[in-house]
Amino acid sequence: MAAIEMRNIVKEYGDGFKAVNDISLSIADGEFMILVGPSGCGKSTLLRMIVGLEDITSGDMVIGDDRVNEKAPRDRNLSMVFQNYALYPHLTVFENIAFPLRLNKKIGEDEIKRRVNEAADMLELHEHLERKPANLSGGQRQRVAMGRAIVRQVNAFLFDEPLSNLDAKLRGQMRTEISRMQRRLGTTTVYVTHDQTEAMTLGDRVAVLRRGFLQQVASPRELYEQP
Ligand code: ADP
Ligand code: ADP
Repeated sequence: MAAIEMRNIVKEYGDGFKAVNDISLSIADGEFMILVGPSGCGKSTLLRMIVGLEDITSGDMVIGDDRVNEKAPRDRNLSMVFQNYALYPHLTVFENIAFPLRLNKKIGEDEIKRRVNEAADMLELHEHLERKPANLSGGQRQRVAMGRAIVRQVNAFLFDEPLSNLDAKLRGQMRTEISRMQRRLGTTTVYVTHDQTEAMTLGDRVAVLRRGFLQQVASPRELYEQP
C-alpha cells in the first residue's frame, strides 16, 4: 500500500492560474521521495497540500487508506520541516522538541522526557536542551526543527529545502544525518530541494516538476548519471 497517494491533484489560485496541474504520484511506505524543479514549478504548493496548509482545488490526497482532502493538518499525523526552521523563540530547545507531544494530553511527562531525550541523542542536542533558539547556530536550529519532526511517530516527514540556509560544510554533514535518521526510523519522506547532491544521496526516487506538471519520476541514477 502507498503511504501517500496523489490522484490528479490540481491547485488553482484565484486568477485561474494552475500552480499544480493534474499531478498523480504514489509514494511507497518508507520511500524517500525528492521533489525537484525550477523555482515556481509548484514544489512548495504540492508539499503544502500534502500537509494540509493549502486547499486542493481538485483531485484526491490519500494518506495510508485515508482520503484527507478535508482533514485539518493536525489530523493528518505528518511532520513538516521548513527552510526557516519555524522554532518558537520563547521556548527552550527541550520545549520546542516536546511541543508536538504536549498537544496530545494522553502523553505523560515521563514519556515526553524519554522521547525528547531520544531525539536529542540522535541529533546531538543534549548539551543545548535548556537554551533558546536565539542562542543557537543555524545548524543547531535546523537540528531542533528535525528533533521536533521525529519526536512522535508520524505517517511521513515533509522537508521544504531544509538545508538551503546552511553553509556547504554543514549541509554535507546534515545530509548524512538526515539520511541515517530516515533509514533508522524508516519513515516515508518527501523532500523538496534545489541541490542535485542532496537529490542523489538521499532520494530513492526523484519527481521532476515543471510549470505545475509532473514531468518525470526516476531513480537518481537514471536522472543524473551520464549514459
Ligand atoms: P516552488 O516551490 O516550486 O518554487 P511554489 O509552489 O511556491 O513553487 O509556487 C508555484 C507557483 O504558484 C508560482 O508561480 C507562484 O508564483 C504561484 N503561487 C504560489 N502561491 C501563490 C498564491 N498564494 N497566490 C497566487 N499564486 C501563487
Ligand atoms: P496558526 O494558525 O496558529 O498560526 P500554524 O500555521 O502554526 O497555526 O499551524 C496551522 C496548522 O498546521 C496546525 O493545525 C498545525 O498542527 C499544523 N502545523 C503547523 N506546523 C506544522 C508542522 N511543522 N508540521 C505539521 N503540521 C504543522
